[in-house]
Amino acid sequence: MKAQCNTDKCIYCGACVGVCPVGALTLDETRIVIDKKKCIGCGACAKICPAGAMTVKEGE
Ligand code: SF4
Ligand code: SF4
Repeated sequence: MKAQCNTDKCIYCGACVGVCPVGALTLDETRIVIDKKKCIGCGACAKICPAGAMTVKEGE
């Protein structure tokens, strides 16, 4: 399970970056960068995302 960000929906609020327990998310100037090696698929980012942009899916 890995996080995925839908960049069409993301409003770059940064909320997901703050809740990730393993620091897998960083806010770039133009997008959310997900370090898939760090992500443990906990779903915290998807839960807090106000725009429904973050999803956690099976696989890569
Ligand atoms: S699913 Fe969990 S570990 Fe992965 S990016 Fe989101 S908050 Fe971080
Ligand atoms: S919480 Fe959602 S809208 Fe906010 S920066 Fe993260 S993915 Fe984008």
